[in-house]
Amino acid sequence: MDLGNCRRLVVKLGTRLVAGSHEGVNTELLDDLGRQAARLLARRKQLIIVTSGAVHLGRRVLKRPQRREALAFRQAAASIGQPELMRHYSQAFQAHGVVVAQMLLTMGDIAERERYLHTRETFESLLRHNVVPIVNENDSVSEPSVTFGENDKLAAVIAAKVQADLLVFLLDEAGLYTSNPAEDPSAALIRAIEPTDVDFLKYAAGSGGPESMGGMATKCIAARIAVECGIPVAMIDGREPGALLRRLEGEELGTLFRPARRRSSRKSWLASATAPGGAITVDDGARRALLAPGGRSLLPSGVTGVEGAFAAGVVLAIRDSTGQEIARGLTNFASAEIERVAGAQTHEVAGILGRDTAPEVIHRDNLVLSPLLSTEAPPTGEPDARA
Ligand code: GLU
Repeated sequence: MDLGNCRRLVVKLGTRLVAGSHEGVNTELLDDLGRQAARLLARRKQLIIVTSGAVHLGRRVLKRPQRREALAFRQAAASIGQPELMRHYSQAFQAHGVVVAQMLLTMGDIAERERYLHTRETFESLLRHNVVPIVNENDSVSEPSVTFGENDKLAAVIAAKVQADLLVFLLDEAGLYTSNPAEDPSAALIRAIEPTDVDFLKYAAGSGGPESMGGMATKCIAARIAVECGIPVAMIDGREPGALLRRLEGEELGTLFRPARRRSSRKSWLASATAPGGAITVDDGARRALLAPGGRSLLPSGVTGVEGAFAAGVVLAIRDSTGQEIARGLTNFASAEIERVAGAQTHEVAGILGRDTAPEVIHRDNLVLSPLLSTEAPPTGEPDARA
């Protein structure tokens, strides 16, 4: 897949890469990234960076490098480390003539439509002015119940919201392997994940190490969110000088997640449509069918409940039997109609409603997996770093 034409890029760096084995921050790496940023901007590309590292830097200042700690300590560490992190980015990028801007976001800034629209305008304005927004979660004020927690999903959500052409995860390894290469000598690098590879989460066992919240599992889940919105995802070795440019120029580096479909502005809009006009609850079979990559439409047989009074054509939240939102989509039926067809088989729908109609409650083309849902647990279960 030719990535050379991708214009708007979201690039995510994790703590292990930013800090590297260096004391504090890997300044060589940031210098290399600044150099690449300058080249990209000169080619009229737009770059948004999502970076971790604030908590790690703050912990160092407080001389408490442990991971398991009170949330308040983590939040305090983030507020100490964030300006330090920005200082390093700012210095590294300025050396190459690139201006950076800090964007600290909470989930609320993205989930609430009005706030999100303002946030998006800020991104658009910065990009128009050839500035590179440097994004992190605003950990020091994020409420624990609604935090992204790790930046992988934040990066995917931003890519969807700004309708990026490509999401890149810069890793401290070569890409996604068939198993953990640190433990299994037969682990092989996976070059591409096709939209039909429904099982790719199985490759992503393990957490990201003591410094970071994410791991390959959270990256794979994030990749799936982006792919669902039609955005290709490249996972490449960020320690390789010039890796980002080289990948865009066609060098076969790392793992590419190919999207199922072309980027659709409707899907991206759905991903950012944040005030659903009602909700439907689905059974476990429908949940599985919806969450499978390249998954199915929502049929009446899987619907177990309806909330709210709504007309056809509004955005609905789709909840599983535990009440967790798993997707959003445009309904073909009004709430009263869904109540009548809930549980019915596809061939019965037209008869029940007394009119000729497509049987799907929500067609797959009008459905996005909720980018804000915490998705399925990673296969091996990661430790809860906030415990
Ligand atoms: N926002 C956190 C930080 O800057 C990192 C979260 C993560 O590890 O993804 O330290």
